[in-house]
Amino acid sequence: MSGRRKPDWLKMRPPSGQEFTGIKQTLREHDLNTVCEEANCPNLGECWSGRGDDGGGTATFMLMGHKCTRSCGFCDVDTGGGEPLDPDEPVNVASAIAEIGLDYVVLTSVDRDDLEGQGAEHFAQTIREIKKRHPGILVEVLIPDFQGDETLVRKIIDADPDVIAHNVETVERLQGHVRDPRAGYEQSLGVLEQVTRESDIYTKTSLMLGLGEYDHEVYQALSDLRETDVDIVTLGQYLQPSRMHLDVEEYVHPAKYRTWQEVAEEELGFLYCASGPMVRSSYKAGELFVDAILR
Ligand code: SF4
Ligand code: SF4
Repeated sequence: MSGRRKPDWLKMRPPSGQEFTGIKQTLREHDLNTVCEEANCPNLGECWSGRGDDGGGTATFMLMGHKCTRSCGFCDVDTGGGEPLDPDEPVNVASAIAEIGLDYVVLTSVDRDDLEGQGAEHFAQTIREIKKRHPGILVEVLIPDFQGDETLVRKIIDADPDVIAHNVETVERLQGHVRDPRAGYEQSLGVLEQVTRESDIYTKTSLMLGLGEYDHEVYQALSDLRETDVDIVTLGQYLQPSRMHLDVEEYVHPAKYRTWQEVAEEELGFLYCASGPMVRSSYKAGELFVDAILR
């Protein structure tokens, strides 16, 4: 389906406004980059400009460099590794977040299979630094699988973020086609299961649609996730970053996303499900999370 015209519901709105400009400036001053900008995320205007009394204001920061040791067929992040970690990163990220005044932040990282401890301690330290400087903030972390090493996942749990997310990305059958061979459905469910077993921290995961999955497989994945006690799920359209990446098999209609949201929330009992063509793992994460826990 490569090269086919995107349907109208996938048209992007350019970001603008005072908050957008202010956040951008602070990020440049601290020499920090967000996934929001680097991925040219279509939700940037909505996520950033929700800051203030309405409970929005979410941005996603990428830790541990710009090169991932893995290579997933859908992902636009460069493959590599071997870069040393920046020991100042936890403090720099925390200072910028405190200055911007975000009320919800998402931290994610590349996978660093090349490092001793896979960067788990660096990730945990960043969470602690943010909480220290900005005690009221809610922190969501989107973590690697740490190769299923429970000791490393526990470092993240012990840093006590508010939400721990780990993405299964796609249905079970398509895992090998879509994700790096070192990732896997059972391993990812295992990470989420450990968090629910060892803590009261909210758990979250994401699936991309449009990669060739069948409805019954999506339903099975949602059921597996609920059985694992995962609280939050997001569903969004896979978009091909370049011709080198996996083809889009289907542009899933917005009506189907609404159906999946009803299934997830009303039938399966997720705390909430963000579901729509443009939804990404961190889409309006702060606003939706706060609404859901206050419901
Ligand atoms: Fe940033 Fe995530 Fe929102 Fe995109 S969806 S703008 S990456 S917070
Ligand atoms: Fe991209 Fe994550 Fe896969 Fe690395 S592990 S290539 S960052 S999706």
